[in-house]
Amino acid sequence: LGMIAENVALATANLRLRERLTHLAVRDPLTGLMNRRALDEALASAALEEPEPDLTCLVVDIDHFKHFNDEFGHDAGDAVLETFATVLTDAVGTRGRCYRFGGEEFAVLLQDASSDTARQVADLVRTRAATARLEHAGRILGSITVSVGIADNRDGRKVSTVRTRADLALLRAKETGRNVTVYEDIGVEKV
Ligand code: GH3
Ligand code: MG
Ligand code: MG
Repeated sequence: LGMIAENVALATANLRLRERLTHLAVRDPLTGLMNRRALDEALASAALEEPEPDLTCLVVDIDHFKHFNDEFGHDAGDAVLETFATVLTDAVGTRGRCYRFGGEEFAVLLQDASSDTARQVADLVRTRAATARLEHAGRILGSITVSVGIADNRDGRKVSTVRTRADLALLRAKETGRNVTVYEDIGVEKV
């Protein structure tokens, strides 16, 4: 009986360890959001489905974040990334999944979302980011804006390229002057 109990305890400990390792592998430690690996895996597994699920990808990048770090310091920058992650998840809610896939780059995957819904989500994220209360070590910080690129896998486009295409749309948003949303092939929207 003692040996069985010992084996069960060992198996449970192994399971916990495995859960912990999985958590570490797919989570960003700073913000707690899912990381780039999780995003890549989500897109890769969607690409294997037949037919592909209807997916929309938003790539959200903080504008002039380097200046922000330079002005307020790297720790304040980290605090802003944490705050923005909360702003993002609150704005997206149950409509999609949020990821931090680069330094100040975030992604949102929406399933079965119309282009109108995707735009609404993007614009809510932008307005909430611009009005978020940013604080670090008791000091009120300046404000941030974000730019958003959006792409989907409708009309024969593939899910395997959706993030790259959202990135290209983001590039256009930056060129347009930032704090805007660009939907691939649809165009620009300002606040
Ligand atoms: P743009 O509007 O074109 O996006 O300008 P940007 O300054 O935001 O973009 P750029 O790619 O030039 O710089 C990104 C900066 O983000 C560089 C780095 O200082 C900062 N950054 C990246 N990761 C982190 C992080 O984990 N913490 C902090 N505090 N800063 C980070
Ligand atoms: Mg940036
Ligand atoms: Mg960037």
